[in-house]
Amino acid sequence: MNILVINAGSSSLKYQLIDIVTEKVIAKGLCERVGSKDSFHKHGIDEDEVVIDTFLPDHKAAIEVVLRSLVEGPRAPIHSVSEIDAVGHRIVQGGAYFNQSVVITPDVKDKILELAELAPLHNLSALQGIKACEEVLPDRLQVAVFDTAFFQTLPPKAYMYPIPYELYQKYGIRKYGAHGTSHRYIASRAAELLGEPLSELKMITCHLGNGCSVSAIDHGVAVDTSMGLTPLDGLMMGTRSGAIDPAIVPFLMDHEGLSTQDVSDLLNKQSGLLGISGISNDMRTVQEAAQEGNERALLAYDMYANSVKKYIGQYMAVMAGVDVIVLTGGIGENSSIIRRLIFAGMQPMGIVVDSSKNEQRGFERLISHDKSKVRIIVVPTNEELMIARDTYALVHKSSQIVPYKG
Ligand code: ADP
Repeated sequence: MNILVINAGSSSLKYQLIDIVTEKVIAKGLCERVGSKDSFHKHGIDEDEVVIDTFLPDHKAAIEVVLRSLVEGPRAPIHSVSEIDAVGHRIVQGGAYFNQSVVITPDVKDKILELAELAPLHNLSALQGIKACEEVLPDRLQVAVFDTAFFQTLPPKAYMYPIPYELYQKYGIRKYGAHGTSHRYIASRAAELLGEPLSELKMITCHLGNGCSVSAIDHGVAVDTSMGLTPLDGLMMGTRSGAIDPAIVPFLMDHEGLSTQDVSDLLNKQSGLLGISGISNDMRTVQEAAQEGNERALLAYDMYANSVKKYIGQYMAVMAGVDVIVLTGGIGENSSIIRRLIFAGMQPMGIVVDSSKNEQRGFERLISHDKSKVRIIVVPTNEELMIARDTYALVHKSSQIVPYKG
């Protein structure tokens, strides 16, 4: 059974075709700059990748090109689109409506649209992707997998903001979190690798990529996470500030004459590693500059590691301890320097990195010292596989429903 996984961004569309029985990726790729004249399509099977310049006026055109590349040519992985059994869509914002993945119905689409106010670029592009797939594959089940769903278990004391309660009632202003599919995947994969039930572990999961977030997962249940109403909250990131004193916003608006859009751009696109280093939002470039003695680059990565360390401390307090810390994302998986800095000096809390294991490269691996009470494990995330698994589970469930013949 083949599941097509679609992740539609504002001007991009990433996809993977996954054989759910073997969990093998049959083909994958992405369409970039959708809607602009210099759009292109990258399509890969195994290690081979082709890049095709092609005009993609909208997401429907992108889906059509993707489907064609799956069935045409000498190396086409499938013969016909009928070999695609279902489609799973990544949706960024599911609000308080969705605590799990669902089959897409007109009502689900209405809710995704209603929630677009909280994630305008993402939810609207996802809807375009859904519409395009419905048109091209009308008889296939479409499933929505929400980045926020995993955090619907947070207790009110974690998801409420201490602002007038009426604003929560009026606008739904609260913490929804993000990266939930990734946190869910790495938590369950870490438990599997350790051979211990997730339901018996206190875990802190750290997704450290361009966007960064940390979650507290207490015996398998998410109890807190660092991203908030939007993905701007929490950790310092590539270009996002993460949590700052909220009084900085009106201060900047007054003193720099910034509009709400300007201040939002400043905090989302010009802050974080980029804002502090003045060099790049890319951790590799920042590290290189720091190694050459650039002081602002050094400060940027010191601040970055410190922000992760502080969340780990917070979540240890929330759960009264931690058994396992999981790291993923480009930085979490690859940067031994950042990992060393995050865990430096935490020996009194039972957290000790093994410096030689920390330097090793590879995939899934333990990097904690044998004498460390807390296990630290690196697990590359796989959100697409999680989306495919959820989609398959819902296809399976819906095929069990016997239609009512009245
Ligand atoms: P995204 O969130 O867009 O999926 P990634 O998970 O790919 O992003 O993470 C991108 C980040 O990972 C960048 O800051 C990049 O510099 C960093 N990164 C990737 N490889 C390394 C490395 N070897 N050392 C340090 N940082 C790295």
